[in-house]
Amino acid sequence: MEHHLHERDRVGVQDAVLLEDYNNQEVFVDNLQKRFKENVIYTYIGPVLISVNPYQELKIYDKKTIKEYDNKNFFEVPPHVFAITNNAFTSLKDENREQCILISGESGSGKTEASKKVLQYIAEVTDHKGEVEKVKDKLIFSNPILEAFGNAKTNRNDNSSRFGKYMDIQFNFEGNPVGGNILNYLLEKSRVISQTQGERNFHVFYQLLAGASDEEIGELKLKRTIDSYYYLSNGQQNGTHGINDKEDFAAVKKALTTLDFSSGEQMDLFSIISAVLQLGNVGFTEQDGLSVITKPDIVEDVSKLLNCDKNLLKKALLQRTIKTNNEEVVTPLNRELSVYARDALAKAVYDRVFTWLVKKINQSLQPNESRRNVVMGILDIYGFEIFERNSFEQLCINFCNEKLQQLFIDLTLKSEQDEYEKEGIVWQHIDYFDNKIICDLIEEKHKGLIAYMDEECLRPGDPNDVTLLAKLDEYLGYHAHYISHKKADTKLQKIMGRDEFRLIHYAGAVTYNIKSFIDKNNDLLYRDLKEAMIRSKNNILQSVFLESEQNSKKMPDTAITQFKHSVNNLMNILKDKEPSYIRCIKPNDSKRSATFNFDLVSHQVTYLGLMENLRVRRAGFAYRRDFTRFLKRYKCLSEDTWPNYHGSAKDGVKLLVRTLGYQDDEYQMGKTKIFIRHPKTLFATEDAFQFK
Ligand code: ADP
Ligand code: MG
Repeated sequence: MEHHLHERDRVGVQDAVLLEDYNNQEVFVDNLQKRFKENVIYTYIGPVLISVNPYQELKIYDKKTIKEYDNKNFFEVPPHVFAITNNAFTSLKDENREQCILISGESGSGKTEASKKVLQYIAEVTDHKGEVEKVKDKLIFSNPILEAFGNAKTNRNDNSSRFGKYMDIQFNFEGNPVGGNILNYLLEKSRVISQTQGERNFHVFYQLLAGASDEEIGELKLKRTIDSYYYLSNGQQNGTHGINDKEDFAAVKKALTTLDFSSGEQMDLFSIISAVLQLGNVGFTEQDGLSVITKPDIVEDVSKLLNCDKNLLKKALLQRTIKTNNEEVVTPLNRELSVYARDALAKAVYDRVFTWLVKKINQSLQPNESRRNVVMGILDIYGFEIFERNSFEQLCINFCNEKLQQLFIDLTLKSEQDEYEKEGIVWQHIDYFDNKIICDLIEEKHKGLIAYMDEECLRPGDPNDVTLLAKLDEYLGYHAHYISHKKADTKLQKIMGRDEFRLIHYAGAVTYNIKSFIDKNNDLLYRDLKEAMIRSKNNILQSVFLESEQNSKKMPDTAITQFKHSVNNLMNILKDKEPSYIRCIKPNDSKRSATFNFDLVSHQVTYLGLMENLRVRRAGFAYRRDFTRFLKRYKCLSEDTWPNYHGSAKDGVKLLVRTLGYQDDEYQMGKTKIFIRHPKTLFATEDAFQFK
């Protein structure tokens, strides 16, 4: 870091702990802006990397740059995702410590790109032969597959990940990748049936229409035109800049082959995708209150593609069988319910096929050696979301972020404490906001928000969104972080509707609209449809539906409870690992390079909790450096240490700081490092050095 300090006026400081006024958010954002204007997108808060999306190709990811970071000391090189990766990798290799790289930030801030850079770095600095190279290829090629099926163009990001992802890279004792494992979270399956104006469905649908051969198009009973399909019709129709669906489809097929998907499996897979697309075109009318299929030939095509019985499928779209103890009651559906059933089927099929894809990829990524490997995990997951209108999905996502914040507090405060202890520095209590109270509000057994939601969903009678909200208001209204619309709302400006509740998250207040909570949480697929799928002769389909049937107990878990389990499982995976943090920031809302929207960045700095992060870091010591390196640089500033000094580094530093006039409360001597409280102390020393 030292040789960059004098540049601080032009490109700002590379570590925000060096800002004099560390409580001032404007100063903090201004520092990011200064750097951004110079195309410097990376900044630290201590060990945490902040990355501002440049929206342009910078020449900072080539092999030459990787060389510059390979095996370097973290603070000797400018901030970079490669520095973070190298640091983690070194600790993994040299100390055998499991790592996780946690990437957060809002949509379009550069999380997925950052995760790819991590992988790129690892791929470059490890062996390039034999099995290792093959494993790395697979790790890299898993991306285009998951992006085809799990990413879409949104108004925020042309390649937005619509699922959360945690990927393990497993290393052998030589430090080479030998395998991997992916966990996926909460795919936004509602996108399969409809999209917001200007957005698209998942990439794979367009890729298939543009990239399949004429023969495949025929076999899959498709037409190439996007506007032939109802499920694609409310999104963006025309081509999208920067996306080449045809080329991407070729890349996906190649990737599938690399990851050991047989040609039979690929055909089964694309048959299902084609069937989902055409399912949307199945129409219904109503006669005497009963639903009637308007285009039976489409259902026939769909059932051929799904390899299931056409009559069974037709029936399942028109009626619903409820099994009570030993009775079967068949109820015919009206038009509205048929549409609901059709859409539910499309979503369920797509969602399960996505999970199947991940499972297949994981099979291919399993290491040959069964020995226990050291792991580096990379988490690329949705950041805190606060929209005009927030629903069930935002609640899930924000809950996940609360849990990650808990982990952050645990891990970083703990490591800060550990270092002080190790160095024998007097520990001082650091004040911070512990968001455990919010996590409890959401997930506590029997009396948290999730518990009440489940209770209402499973209640006999007619549970609906209105009764759910009434229940939440009644039981959670007392809580400081739950605001019912009935509560007098003087502190918070925005008025709430009668169908809303508000949670005060650690990152700010979010108002949720209760509409569809019950539906989304129940995530119901009529038994008739399930059974039609289980009897399908398409191997993928049969296995995914059979599996979920066997796994489920009497009452399957609700959507949010499943999510809670997987989030807690993730926390367990992460909690024993050494964390590295990458906080991504989006500089503007228009995907433009060189535009830095100060307010927009400020908001994200708030949601990411960066000022709190900085405050905690500064509550201790802003700067710490081991004695040897400190002495080496500054020994010329004291006659006691210059030109010749022969004692221990620690004694040398003691002599040096005496000459420099450091006051007792400005620094402490640890066992191997000097800890300096304020940056200005260091700056004075650095200036003395520069002007000598
Ligand atoms: P997120 O995963 O956070 O939603 P992405 O990683 O998909 O965001 O980034 C969105 C877009 O921003 C990318 O498609 C790319 O065009 C651009 N981008 C992100 N990070 C970088 C980077 N480091 N360099 C250049 N462009 C980037
Ligand atoms: Mg992403």
